[in-house]
Amino acid sequence: MCPAALARTHRENLVNDYYAILGVERNASQEEIKKAYRKLARKLHPDVAGPDAEEQFKEVQRAYDVLSSPDKRQQYDMGSDPTAPGGGMGGGFGFQDIFETFFGGGQQQRGPIPRARRGQDALLRIDIDLSEAAFGVTKNIEVDTAVACGTCQGSCCAPGTSPVTCGVCHGSGTVQRIARSFLGQVMTNTPCAACQGFGTTIPNPCAECSGEGRVRSRRTISIDVPAGVETGVRIKMSGQGEVGPAGGPAGDLYFEIRERKHPVFTRHGDDIDCRIEVPMTAAALGTVLEVETLDGMQEVDLAPGTQPGQIITLKELGVGHLHGNGRGHLNITIEVVIPTNLDDEQSDLLRSLATLRGEERPAGRIASNNSGVFSRIKEKLSGR
Ligand SMILES: [Zn+2]
Ligand SMILES: [Zn+2]
Repeated sequence: MCPAALARTHRENLVNDYYAILGVERNASQEEIKKAYRKLARKLHPDVAGPDAEEQFKEVQRAYDVLSSPDKRQQYDMGSDPTAPGGGMGGGFGFQDIFETFFGGGQQQRGPIPRARRGQDALLRIDIDLSEAAFGVTKNIEVDTAVACGTCQGSCCAPGTSPVTCGVCHGSGTVQRIARSFLGQVMTNTPCAACQGFGTTIPNPCAECSGEGRVRSRRTISIDVPAGVETGVRIKMSGQGEVGPAGGPAGDLYFEIRERKHPVFTRHGDDIDCRIEVPMTAAALGTVLEVETLDGMQEVDLAPGTQPGQIITLKELGVGHLHGNGRGHLNITIEVVIPTNLDDEQSDLLRSLATLRGEERPAGRIASNNSGVFSRIKEKLSGR
């Protein structure tokens, strides 16, 4: 299966990222989750932060509700949102939702509402390491989402039965009500409570799916992660999310990439960096280094007189470009190690060298602060 699209999208139309809401890592312990929740709850509590923070406070509570329960957390980690209306199965179409469908947006809808609705999008994370990001990888991911019920094919009815017209609203899904107001009597349409606005009722719900038209199913999806992805990139698989109630169309499935930190290499775009320590003698005399790279051992020429901080670039040994061919580079910063604990013989040798080079009593040569290795390091540290 090929990823349909690659996108760095916002979280709209997606299940909430509860880990991000609480500001914890995906592998956070229960204790860490509890701590993060307490901290946020204290900060956002309406008594403290006022009504503006109320929505955020509710979100934090929802996130904690899911992540603090091992069952719900597992369900969430596998692609479904246990708090979503109709999600997590058995939720059904709440009366509140119908009310909003009818009166939301100031537009009054007439006629029965369809039973089938589009399913939720699902968001899963894929953890990859640097070499997988560099070369691309095929991952088999276990996904747990709702799929259409095989027994009733999404009709929600027991085999051989079908929905019947609602006897209360006669199939219209709405009932008229006369309400008294200060303007006098007004007619309003309200959703029929007997059929929840669907216009039909199901006398014999399918036993397999309890009349939901969909069942939970675990399946393994094979996904091609292309070279060049990095943390935050999302891969979309259309129509692989949750199937909607009553056989409604499936939402989309998103995979969000998370790249693990590499113990040696750091990544900057498609380039990768590392540092190599070489002894002073090797830097002065030059040598050939054996260097472990993402592509295995490579021989690197160290020129005689290599200075500390010098960068050796190995072209095309970085991360593959996401768009287009080619790869980034591997940049190796050379660190020269000055020997310590010299024994007598070594000290004598170095002293002889110093004499030969006329360096027994070197004058400290003053160099500008704004050039050379040290300022480069300083710039890096101060982020300039
Ligand atoms: Zn069924
Ligand atoms: Zn009805």
